[in-house]
Amino acid sequence: MNFTELNIAPLILKALEQAHYKHPTPIQVQAIPPILSGRDLLGCAQTGTGKTAAFAVPTLQRLMHKARSPRRSISALILTPTRELALQIHESMQTYGRHTGLRSCVIFGGVSQNQQEIQLRQGVDILVATPGRLLDLLNQRIITLAQIEILILDEADRMLDMGFIHDVKRVIAQVPAKRQTLFFSATMPAEIVKLSRAILVDPIHVSISPESPTVEKIQQTVYFVDKANKRHLLIHLLGNPQIDSVLVFTRTKHGADRVVRELNDSRIRAQAIHGNKSQNARVRALSDFKSKTTRVLVATDIAARGIDIDGLSYVINYDLPEVPETYVHRIGRSGRAGNVGTSLSFCDFEEKKLLTAIEKLIVKPIPVVDGHSFPLMITTIEPKPVQMGRRHMPQQRQATQHARPSQPQTSRAQRQTQQAKPKNRY
Ligand code: AMP
Repeated sequence: MNFTELNIAPLILKALEQAHYKHPTPIQVQAIPPILSGRDLLGCAQTGTGKTAAFAVPTLQRLMHKARSPRRSISALILTPTRELALQIHESMQTYGRHTGLRSCVIFGGVSQNQQEIQLRQGVDILVATPGRLLDLLNQRIITLAQIEILILDEADRMLDMGFIHDVKRVIAQVPAKRQTLFFSATMPAEIVKLSRAILVDPIHVSISPESPTVEKIQQTVYFVDKANKRHLLIHLLGNPQIDSVLVFTRTKHGADRVVRELNDSRIRAQAIHGNKSQNARVRALSDFKSKTTRVLVATDIAARGIDIDGLSYVINYDLPEVPETYVHRIGRSGRAGNVGTSLSFCDFEEKKLLTAIEKLIVKPIPVVDGHSFPLMITTIEPKPVQMGRRHMPQQRQATQHARPSQPQTSRAQRQTQQAKPKNRY
């Protein structure tokens, strides 16, 4: 199918051509015609499916006639959970709408309000916003939502997860009841179903699961490696110049910072993106990575959710995720929109159970890379110390079996540090 068959206006078709989009993705095929005809829509889809264009293109087209009007008012509002996602949607609006004359603006918290206020005062047709900053501006009467014709909720389940659902409801209460509503969520927990029922009128249902097709296009391998040797393996793999841009996932913020330090010490340009970083640092890290100024972006799952990097080929799972679905989500950052992606996963002995769960989810074994420079040597789980103290260390060491003692090993000090580390710090 071609975009022309979806009755898309020539000015938008031209922009899609310039973005090198050749064919609509399944969600675009299913969603664009009903949205163009004014229907409400309930979309069950994740990033990576082409969902942004699925709502952005028809939204732009329905508002195109407004570009000529002398006074602009916010006619479409897109609510989204994170700043990164808000920026991406805004960039997409600008890409697809470049010939329409419509103005899009993005607002989110964590940065000064002034610049956003200036843009809003200049007149905006499409507003992309995170709920908190939007409410601030509404409360200060800097903007009004009284002219909204199209309301879009993106990643509604994540807004629920992140505790924004009440803010979202407060915002919706200020949008006129007579409107078109598009509601997207990757999952449909009870509260999201309830909210969707409350705000949608006779919606079209569209459900796209990117998991299997995406995963099938990604070449996946796993390296069994001791925890302490993961950094050596990473630096060794980055010796391959073909891996010119790679997203590395760690389980914790501190883990991400440590990997960045180690890479920088080895003169490999790397930056971290995680919840402890300021908004400006996150935006800078992402834009340096996109512009290839930084070769390695080290991310935790929460910070990386929804991040879209065009043409990303490599993802490295430095730590395996505790939730198997997260693996699919991570490797789906590569191989987007039909590109080939490569995922390399590091698995230490304690993570083998996580690997089994992932393989069960994707219903196939992940090929193992044999004969690499840092093979797994520690093959039993070290007992967690009840009380950290020197007296306990000999026992812990006894419990550790080294299958091939001549290979690099974790030092006692390293093990002590690892054991003392608190868990789940994203
Ligand atoms: P999304 O699911 O909206 O985050 O989109 C994922 C990626 O697919 C983005 O990089 C888009 O630029 C790209 N994309 C969306 N639609 C198409 C299309 N029809 N053809 C090629 N790339 C697309």
